[in-house]
Amino acid sequence: MPRNILVVGELAGGQPSSTTLELLSGAAGLAEGGTVSVTLLGTGATAAAAGCAGATTAYANDDAGYDTFNGERWLTALTAACDQASPDVILIGQTTAGREIGPRLAHRRGSAVAMDCTSIVAEGGAIKAQRPAYGGNALATYAFATSPAVATVRAKSWDAVPGAAPSSTVALPGAGESRTNVTGKEQVVAEGLQLQDAKVVISGGRGLGSAEAFSVVEDLAAAIGKDKAAVGASRAAVDLGWYPPSQQVGLTGKVVTPDVYFAVAISGASQHMAGCSGSKVIVAINRDADANIFGFAKYGIVGDYKTVVPAIIEELKK
Ligand SMILES: Cc1cc2nc3c(=O)[nH]c(=O)nc-3n(C[C@H](O)[C@H](O)[C@H](O)COP(=O)(O)OP(=O)(O)OC[C@H]3O[C@@H](n4cnc5c(N)ncnc54)[C@H](O)[C@@H]3O)c2cc1C
Repeated sequence: MPRNILVVGELAGGQPSSTTLELLSGAAGLAEGGTVSVTLLGTGATAAAAGCAGATTAYANDDAGYDTFNGERWLTALTAACDQASPDVILIGQTTAGREIGPRLAHRRGSAVAMDCTSIVAEGGAIKAQRPAYGGNALATYAFATSPAVATVRAKSWDAVPGAAPSSTVALPGAGESRTNVTGKEQVVAEGLQLQDAKVVISGGRGLGSAEAFSVVEDLAAAIGKDKAAVGASRAAVDLGWYPPSQQVGLTGKVVTPDVYFAVAISGASQHMAGCSGSKVIVAINRDADANIFGFAKYGIVGDYKTVVPAIIEELKK
């Protein structure tokens, strides 16, 4: 059944963000002969639209008034795009902007939103959205009773694939007035590879015993490669001041979906698993054979991290 899909794109460094490209590849699979369109807002949006592989139409505006995300301004532009594209499905990244835009846009279109989805499929002619529930211990499947189906989707839920550039670009209205204004922006300076971009995430927990012990976890990340691996932490470790809050994984931290997730001396509480259960492979290192984490791990090593982690590093060096 042909469907029109609209992807709400975002810019990163003047280019479509990696999540935008992933959503476009997911959209191609859902369209079944319908159209795929994308919106891009902010400085350089029109030029960046050429990089939106898989979309036939790009709706863009270069107005710098869109650069700092403002829900009200974006909604006016997105509503204009919806009026023209008549989407049956709207896909939005589960990003800071997406978390606000999803419910507000769904409300404006008289529909509903499924947030934080990890998969969207067309099943028997209907769109179904899947998302983790109960702190990641269960997967809930939602069907939409209203149209358009609006969903915010986690990063890396699809793989970006190459495709043709949009054949047409339609100008959206410039940024208008807003009842809210962003008066300041404070950016956390994060060095090295970001948690969400890492193919391998190695997280340390309270069982490490000290802030200093995180150096063992960092050594493992370095042995895998600084361009591939990033270090995370459980909330217990962060609350103890052992690692920065920016690196916390879990319900109240970051959600990561790497190829491999190492949980070192982490018990596997549901709130932690909410942030990492979407990982392709989980490797658990814990001295307690009954630790909850082993229920999620594809590979489990029962032992003291002080001997297990250096042994893994040794093997990697070989
Ligand atoms: C509303 C709410 C939100 C929360 N959000 C988050 C969140 O975002 N992220 C998060 O992580 N938590 C979150 N939590 C906290 C969560 O419930 C757990 O308390 C926390 O995840 C536990 O962290 P941990 O596994 O590091 O510590 P612990 O539960 O203390 O586990 C430590 C583990 O280390 C093992 N261990 C000890 N010594 C060694 C050793 N030498 N070698 C190997 N293993 C060893 C132990 O066997 C144990 O399994 C939240 C809680 C609430 C209520």
